[in-house]
Amino acid sequence: MSGKRDYYEILGVSKDASEDEIKRAYRKLAKKYHPDLNRDNKEEAEEKFKEISEAYEVLMDQKKRRMYDQYGFNGVNDAFGGGGGFTWNDFTHTDDLRDIFGGSGGLGDIFGAFFGGGMGNSFTSERRQQHRVNVGESLRVRLPLTFEEIIKGAEKKIKIKRYVKCGACNGTGGTDIRTCPTCNGQGVVRQRTQSIFGAMIRESECPTCHGTGKIIKTKCKVCHGTGRVLKEDMIKVKIPAGVSTGNYITLEGEGNFPEHGGIKGDIHVIIEEKPDSRYIREGNNIRIIKPITLYQAVFGDKVNIKLIDSTVRLKINPGTKSGQEYRIRGKGIPDLRRRVRGDVIVQTVIHTPEVKNPEVKDLLKKLHELTKDQIE
Ligand SMILES: [Zn+2]
Ligand SMILES: [Zn+2]
Repeated sequence: MSGKRDYYEILGVSKDASEDEIKRAYRKLAKKYHPDLNRDNKEEAEEKFKEISEAYEVLMDQKKRRMYDQYGFNGVNDAFGGGGGFTWNDFTHTDDLRDIFGGSGGLGDIFGAFFGGGMGNSFTSERRQQHRVNVGESLRVRLPLTFEEIIKGAEKKIKIKRYVKCGACNGTGGTDIRTCPTCNGQGVVRQRTQSIFGAMIRESECPTCHGTGKIIKTKCKVCHGTGRVLKEDMIKVKIPAGVSTGNYITLEGEGNFPEHGGIKGDIHVIIEEKPDSRYIREGNNIRIIKPITLYQAVFGDKVNIKLIDSTVRLKINPGTKSGQEYRIRGKGIPDLRRRVRGDVIVQTVIHTPEVKNPEVKDLLKKLHELTKDQIE
């Protein structure tokens, strides 16, 4: 794409830099390049300042950063930039995206992961304008996935209702089909208007044949002349490991068959993470809140951490604080791009006991009396 520099490189931080590190790096650079402090070469400083500010804005926003990590500038620009949607033209980047998803190695169907407006029919209409072919509507299907399915990848079956070619008339809509006399089979009518810029030609759908270019004299009784019928189908979709909410998988040519024949639309399978009270997803990392007793916090212990696809033994160090984090590397969510996994962050929280037993109450009281001076 553009000659833009990598956001991490701009700020001089590593890919897994914490928010604090990013903040620090930004502050340092912002001070250095603030235009007011660089009156001698203000222009250059301004450019730099803009660059680091943009990098900072993206990397400090968890959602944007995740998109950037996964899809580079495409992810950030297309999903968050400007007008919100994206159009067929943006799909000049399709090749980049195919690379991301491993090209034709079975994941070729997956090429995009942008949330927000402009999906579905907008491709279709754009495509129709470009190639003058009748294209069926694209369909959107939501696909909720569990954490386990996200980590391992999955093959899911989805029930859909879509228009398919009418078997009775083979998608033509009937017999005795003639070329539309209004548009001479073009499907469009042209209107010439005079404007201050000279002659302008406006094209619009032919009102007689509604863009098909044909007139059906004897309509098919099964599809009432449309050439298509509604059918319920089961489709299979392969989900790679590491997807997240907002990613979508396009199944090309699996959408609606258009009226009066043509090219089938697509199906966009939109990924949704099913919430799970045990795990908090942070990009490719998973946070787990682990309660420990005060005794374990003070003297340390070994505890079992139940992960999604395994159980890990974790050593709690003596003197562990409430809220302290332990990192288990490589047990998080697989990265869509690089076949590496994120980490599991175990955050300890000291368990506040429910006290029904008077003995426990006495012990706690005694502990309180003996340690209260340690805190101010
Ligand atoms: Zn029919
Ligand atoms: Zn016509």
